[in-house]
Amino acid sequence: MLCYIGIGSNLGNRKKYIKNAIEKLRETKGVEVRRVSNIHETEPVGGPRQGRYLNGAIEVDTKLEPEELLARLQKIESELGRERSIKNAPRTIDLDILLYGDKEINEPYLKIPHPRMRDREFVMKPLKEIYEGI
Ligand code: ADP
Ligand code: MG
Repeated sequence: MLCYIGIGSNLGNRKKYIKNAIEKLRETKGVEVRRVSNIHETEPVGGPRQGRYLNGAIEVDTKLEPEELLARLQKIESELGRERSIKNAPRTIDLDILLYGDKEINEPYLKIPHPRMRDREFVMKPLKEIYEGI
């Protein structure tokens, strides 16, 4: 299944966190990383005062079910030092499922398409790069 993942970081060595997260995705059985967008520096949206983000999007071909993919992304987040505190808090790494084929899921723990993606320039710009070929 073709799936799009949003990636972001605004704490510590942001570039390194993004690079490492993509590396871990590449090493994941049942996940083939096909394309990675450019990585953009963006202003934080919502939450407390915090530093700028680096954001991008990744196209993967995956055999994992959406729930399995989410679990894998959350494992990568925790391996890269992600701590969950308040909503929209700064984070070393954030991995969100944006689209999973044309599947729609509306569970409390998993909403696909990602509910706020269309309003977020920092999501749509990298997605567009992938669709249109960088
Ligand atoms: P956010 O990405 O919204 O800033 P978090 O990364 O802390 O916040 O995620 C909060 C919760 O969002 C997670 O526990 C996860 O279960 C849920 N969630 C719902 N839909 C998605 C999705 N499409 N991708 C990733 N997480 C999701
Ligand atoms: Mg998230």
